[in-house]
Amino acid sequence: MTKRVTVIGSGGAGLVAAIAARKAGADVVVLSKTTRTTATCTAYAAGVFSLACCGLSPDEYFKKTMETGHYLNDSALVKILTEEAESTFQTLMRWGVRIKMKKGSASVRATAPNGLMGGAGFTGELAAIAESEGVRFLDWTVATSLRLERGRVAGVEMENWRTGERTCIPSGAVILATGGGGQIYSHTDNPGRITGDGYALASDIGAVFRDMEFVQFYPLGWAEPGFPKWMADVELVDFVRITDAEGREFLKEAMKEWGYKSGSEVSLYARDKCARLMAEKSAEGGVFAHLEDLTDGQLKDPKVQYCLTLNAEFFRSVKRPLRMAPLEHYFCGGVVIDGFGRTSVDGLYACGEVTGGVDGANRVGGNALTNIVVFGYRAGNIAAKECEKSLGPLDAGEWRGLHAISEKGERPGVLRKELQEKAWEALGPVRRGRQIEEFLGYLGDFENRTIGVETPLDRLFALEMKGLHATAKAVAEAALKRKESLGTHWRID
Ligand SMILES: Cc1cc2nc3c(=O)[nH]c(=O)nc-3n(C[C@H](O)[C@H](O)[C@H](O)COP(=O)(O)OP(=O)(O)OC[C@H]3O[C@@H](n4cnc5c(N)ncnc54)[C@H](O)[C@@H]3O)c2cc1C
Repeated sequence: MTKRVTVIGSGGAGLVAAIAARKAGADVVVLSKTTRTTATCTAYAAGVFSLACCGLSPDEYFKKTMETGHYLNDSALVKILTEEAESTFQTLMRWGVRIKMKKGSASVRATAPNGLMGGAGFTGELAAIAESEGVRFLDWTVATSLRLERGRVAGVEMENWRTGERTCIPSGAVILATGGGGQIYSHTDNPGRITGDGYALASDIGAVFRDMEFVQFYPLGWAEPGFPKWMADVELVDFVRITDAEGREFLKEAMKEWGYKSGSEVSLYARDKCARLMAEKSAEGGVFAHLEDLTDGQLKDPKVQYCLTLNAEFFRSVKRPLRMAPLEHYFCGGVVIDGFGRTSVDGLYACGEVTGGVDGANRVGGNALTNIVVFGYRAGNIAAKECEKSLGPLDAGEWRGLHAISEKGERPGVLRKELQEKAWEALGPVRRGRQIEEFLGYLGDFENRTIGVETPLDRLFALEMKGLHATAKAVAEAALKRKESLGTHWRID
């Protein structure tokens, strides 16, 4: 019998946890829904970390993180984040990960394959280290349920969505590193596989959650028809005019009023206020980024290219005002953990975006990547130490999709789109109690629909419906309960 740690998710949190657990002596298996490292928010990230390092004091950093989170953060977790980030980054560098650090920040952009996927070099390096340490990967595999034995997590049920094969892997400890739930929304920059599965897996076995109403919307997203759903850095406001329909530079005016000197400061500390203002102006008649302001020389400037996020060459041919609007970016809330990633269920650990507590009501830009490194490392280490001997073979389990399946059922892709659009209306940047109540009613009926599965991709979409539904429900219930506006949660009623 082995001491096996099963890690669900191969983004940054899962990979760091897997390597740490393996180095601490456990047999480690990592599951991911596609191939390892891709289709993760970590790979999609700009690749910029904020942290107390190279002369920025942990005290100062702690203060900023708490203030930005409106003091709803778990201060013990923030203390760990601020005090341990620098030494954990040094550990990763000793493992062989290439990271550049300077006062207050770090970057992995130098190893990125392109400007769009700033974190893909980072996840690639971590996966290679994990493989060389003997971590085993199960790609194309969806964790569908957590098995309990005498109140402790003892196994993970899973399904390979390409072959339909179901298995249950006995595990002495399980680390949930499934990321957030951005795909509940029609407007998000999260990859397609980020469907909140971790929230469903954890809530099914009674894990405790916090702060689910605090979904961070990134203030600037490209909203032109035909454009990809993707963020543009708020720092863009320092290079081009961003105006409302009347041509007023409302964002610059607001920044001054809020006491910020640059767009990058707003992107770090005031995404909440800025996204609210953007949502308001978008509804009033639209927000426009005046790309016609940019000279050819500016288009070659790496800083401008960073802000545009999409290929700068493309913008050379579209020098005109372009529509912008906020889009979903990040889940601040999630599974409650202690400083070692232990959850309220024995044998279940969690790290990364699936957890809540570090960010409170609003996240500091760059803190998400620091969070996955610091708490991934801690969770991996402790899970290996506390891991029990795994049980013998477990039976594979049943179909764990939310819906019944029949040949005549609705297309899962169509059903998903419907849910996403309704979630955006009810739980997007602008929220009203009555609309949230109606949405909860819709979710009740949603469970009773029947879906048709013809292709392997249908099967994946069908399995993901459970995460989407559980996540949307958790956000709606929390958003309804919190009647005041705070941080990223804006109740206009
Ligand atoms: C466009 C973009 C840019 C960003 N830029 C930055 C930045 O520069 N700095 C910063 O700090 N933050 C940034 N963020 C936020 C940050 O990237 C994420 O919060 C962070 O990477 C989350 O890491 P994670 O490991 O928790 O989850 P992810 O990296 O999202 O990985 C989740 C993994 O879980 C797997 N998974 C999910 N469900 C299951 C299941 N049922 N079975 C098996 N596997 C499953 C997925 O396949 C995936 O492998 C950005 C986010 C986006 C979308």
